[in-house]
Amino acid sequence: MHDPLPPRRRGDLDFRNRDDLFAKAERERFDVIVVGGGITGAGVARSAAARGLSVALIEARDLASGTSSRSSKLIHGGIRYLAQGAFWLVRETARERQVLRTVAPHLVRLSPMLIPTRSTAGAAKFRAGVGLFERLGQVPQRDRHDVWNAAQLREREPVAAVDGVQGAVHYHEFSTDDARLTLANARSAAGDGALVLTYAPVVEILKQRGKAFAVRCRSSLSGESLEATIHGRMIVNAAGPWVDALRSLESSSARPQLTLTKGIHLVVPHAQLPLAHTVVFEAADKRPVFAVPRRDVCYLGTTDTFHPEAEYWPDVREEEVGYLLSAAARAFTTPLLATDLISSWTGLRPLISQPGRRPAEISRRDEVWIGPAGVLSIAGGKLTAYRAMAERVVDRVCRLLGKPTISGDTDQTPLIGGDCNPAALIASRRVGSASWSRLVELYGDEATAIDEDGGDVAAEVRQAVRREGALRLEDYWVRRSARALYDADSGMSALEPASREMAKLLGWTDKKRLDELAVCRRRHASNLVPFDRPPAEVRRTKGSNHGEVQSRRAS
Ligand code: FAD
Repeated sequence: MHDPLPPRRRGDLDFRNRDDLFAKAERERFDVIVVGGGITGAGVARSAAARGLSVALIEARDLASGTSSRSSKLIHGGIRYLAQGAFWLVRETARERQVLRTVAPHLVRLSPMLIPTRSTAGAAKFRAGVGLFERLGQVPQRDRHDVWNAAQLREREPVAAVDGVQGAVHYHEFSTDDARLTLANARSAAGDGALVLTYAPVVEILKQRGKAFAVRCRSSLSGESLEATIHGRMIVNAAGPWVDALRSLESSSARPQLTLTKGIHLVVPHAQLPLAHTVVFEAADKRPVFAVPRRDVCYLGTTDTFHPEAEYWPDVREEEVGYLLSAAARAFTTPLLATDLISSWTGLRPLISQPGRRPAEISRRDEVWIGPAGVLSIAGGKLTAYRAMAERVVDRVCRLLGKPTISGDTDQTPLIGGDCNPAALIASRRVGSASWSRLVELYGDEATAIDEDGGDVAAEVRQAVRREGALRLEDYWVRRSARALYDADSGMSALEPASREMAKLLGWTDKKRLDELAVCRRRHASNLVPFDRPPAEVRRTKGSNHGEVQSRRAS
């Protein structure tokens, strides 16, 4: 241990003693082993642990390092699914939005949305859809939609292009922090006794008389040679885009069930696209895309194209950038150039195959299969309805284990960090301080402790390592602090102090610290490749403070 241990609280994930974790995983016999620490796996682990099952949650890299940190970060009801007649899906997601507001109010924020309309008929169509959605989802009267005319749109969202626009439908969805929602579920599962092990890919499924009874996992951290055989009565495969790879460990003749589609997001400084609302607009192929204002930035997304390989961090391509920027050029008065972009992220949707359909037409429904060795695989679905999906999976697990399907009250009990009223907490101190609001929105009821610990990058790193299971610099930079996504300099200036604090806590040599820095800087540079844009540290004004970047490059 490299620092005095802080008092341990329920749900703390401190992964520094890896020998001990691997040994503990091997010693215990679990009711359920959940493979995959994205929102699906973390949600299943949370629901199972809340019902008193003994659970191991095993993740190949960091929690939420797959699709669950690369989404559009919207908790949305999917108005477009109404057109597909998927009423139950809309009802479920609308209900889940309200549940998430109860259990994680700091992570689920009301997000005003605008759909500009070009004709009275268009406006009527959207109003009918939104109205039906609000009724199905029992949206409270105060949060229901209203309709703006072109003058109101111009006044309230000055950068929205109004040429040919008749007005806008203004309604509410929610935005979230997908990685922290995943983390909150994993920590809550741990609070109910689950063992969580990261950087430990499952490399083998062990069988006896054709029935899976254990998994073998191996550390993926460099310089570590730890392995464990983990025994469980039931194995749940929640490996997202890697579900088929896991299924092939269960049976070499397993037929692929997934189709992967890629979605990219582009990040611009908020000053460059100063939106007050999330705006929904159409791309050239009529697909709806979003521009979402968030902290210091605004992000545009997303695309939907087939992607054959389950890669960890797929590239952003020039044509994808062009697709979103030309859609934005029609929707906004401020011209956006590739050289204005400060970052990007990509994700892969693990969708259930529907041969012959185009990417956007493939259903987002979830599906469960029981494999020949009894492994339960779950894929598809949306972040928004993860909890309901997890409850269904755990009902099935309970039936298979011969246990009663009692409720774990996951729709009532706050997730870790969620036992607060964020608005009241924000108002309680340093009124107007952006950094305090940011802490509350990231950490909820834990924000006070971080603020009292200094409230700076080092304090966030201490929280990340001692309580949130961070083991690498990228874990802090991308998924714990989201600085890589929403800071004006993509969190580049936070990397150095963060690496120094992590080195202290994790006992890194200086070489190891520099390697970790290099990994993050390479990631940042590769996110910028199709934009012809130098990394942020090159752009930072000489002597500037944290977060400042030079003004727009002339082009
Ligand atoms: P993942 O998050 O990928 O988790 C799977 C995990 O399994 C990974 O962490 C991986 O490392 C791990 N794993 C793989 N192999 C192994 C192994 N052998 N051993 C151990 N672990 C392993 N949904 C919404 O509701 N709202 C949105 O706004 C939204 N936007 C989206 C935008 C995009 C571009 C994309 C791609 C998706 C979006 N979604 C959205 C959908 C949502 O993000 C996904 O449904 C969800 O994140 C899938 O989570 P998952 O846990 O199934 O997969």
